[in-house]
Amino acid sequence: MDTWQFISLGVAAALSCLYALERKKRVQATSDRDRALDQMSAKNDQDFRTGLMTPDAFDKALNDATQKADRAGGSYAVLAIVLDNFGLIQDGFETEIGDQVLKLTAQRLLTSVGHSASVCKGEGGEFAVLLSGGVPIGTQAARRINAELSKPLELSANTTQSTCSIGIAVYPEHGARAKMWGNASLAMRSLKSSGGNDYCVYDPAMAVQARDEAVMVNDLRQAVEAQQFTLYFQPKIDAQSLQVTAAEALLRWHHPTRGFVSPVVFIPLAEKHGLMGPIGNWVIEEASRTAAVWLQSGLRMRVAVNISGYQMRQDNLVEHIVSVLERHGVQPERFTCEITETVAMEDTAATKLTFEKMRQAGFHVSIDDFGTGYSSLGSLRRLPAAELKIDRAFVMDLETSEEARSIAKSIIDMARALGLKVIAEGVETLGQSNLLVDMGCDELQGFLYSLPIPAEDLQKMAMQRHGGSGSDFRDSLYATNFLRDIG
Ligand code: C2E
Ligand code: MG
Ligand code: MG
Repeated sequence: MDTWQFISLGVAAALSCLYALERKKRVQATSDRDRALDQMSAKNDQDFRTGLMTPDAFDKALNDATQKADRAGGSYAVLAIVLDNFGLIQDGFETEIGDQVLKLTAQRLLTSVGHSASVCKGEGGEFAVLLSGGVPIGTQAARRINAELSKPLELSANTTQSTCSIGIAVYPEHGARAKMWGNASLAMRSLKSSGGNDYCVYDPAMAVQARDEAVMVNDLRQAVEAQQFTLYFQPKIDAQSLQVTAAEALLRWHHPTRGFVSPVVFIPLAEKHGLMGPIGNWVIEEASRTAAVWLQSGLRMRVAVNISGYQMRQDNLVEHIVSVLERHGVQPERFTCEITETVAMEDTAATKLTFEKMRQAGFHVSIDDFGTGYSSLGSLRRLPAAELKIDRAFVMDLETSEEARSIAKSIIDMARALGLKVIAEGVETLGQSNLLVDMGCDELQGFLYSLPIPAEDLQKMAMQRHGGSGSDFRDSLYATNFLRDIG
């Protein structure tokens, strides 16, 4: 790293500390204020900010509804509602804006369900509704709430919008009185983890799934310590020369009793339960160590690491990577950060700062799973990206779908216009590879070239192709007639 990069990184680090301090102060002030408001609310059974019932008052309403249903043989529905992006609104705007959103949401809830229903303000952006009637009444109300709450919110300073997720549990169909609110919340959380912005009726299988998830998360907590993780590597191939330019690190978890657990399953769990920090750091350490081993044996290429949303929001991610790379003697330009399009487009103060620091540190940034999100040309131009990675879904359908071909071609053209390289992931057939090369795709990655394999195997492969001597990876690993070799 040259002096200028070092100074820039220092400035960015200072900015990041200021931002973190400012955020900490705001969170502290907000929670002190919220505690005071909650105490005031508790005295009146009425939430001070929204005028809705407090959770204690709602509990009493649930008791009354249960007695009534037991006496008359009727039923009631509990709806657990959460504003899907209330966390982001709280993080990105002043406290007063958050309060205005809650107040407007409360009014819209009352409009949607009428004054005969009990409506409660829970924690953060959560609400609950109690209605007499069964599943059809509950789902009708949920549809009205979904529609009403997704309308734009006119605030004093600006306009914002939020969707909501609703879980529904019905008494006595879905369990005892004491479980009603919990079961509705379980349905809401289960819906939210699969995308949200909808409603969903409680199912006992959700409880089983939640228990299973809790056990898995517990195991995941110990997996780093117990050395159950390994990294596999999959090469990225230059489309013209068929030489290896980089290797993507892909995490593997060998669970002692479940066997291999896919990262598609455990990475979202780690994100959701705050475990991505230690796991992500382990990946960075191991990938850098491997890159150093490769360098020492004469293999030169980039190592690519997938960076999750949680990591992007960490204050010191870039400083951490820089120090690990320095310790292993690996240059920052040799380190690729793969960030999914969805995370890259989050556009919060925290992710913007991380991108800026990545630019200053000189990392190579790749936008992963490209085509699945909603980037605009403008937002892409602002990112320090060097590469777009076409999502496997489009590559998979290339030979059969005109639409997939058009999407791949527009991604390649857009990348050209922005001066970015394009790589296609999930290339499995020669037909897909030929189409991509004809469209002007720069690099290819997929089972056609290699499965993800252990680091030593990748190294051995490279060495064998060069008669066992150490060599520059750029003109090694695959002979130019590689496709003929495997054909
Ligand atoms: P990704 O980063 O988009 O990685 C590509 C995935 O496609 C990998 O799945 C890879 O094994 C698979 N793949 C590669 N070529 C082919 C092909 O030709 N055909 C098919 N069918 N699949 C192919 P994997 O290893 O299961 O990883 C899945 C996802 O998990 C990754 O998607 C990434 O989002 C996440 N992930 C994996 N390791 C890490 C990690 O260390 N950190 C983070 N944050 N996420 C990771
Ligand atoms: Mg990736
Ligand atoms: Mg991908």
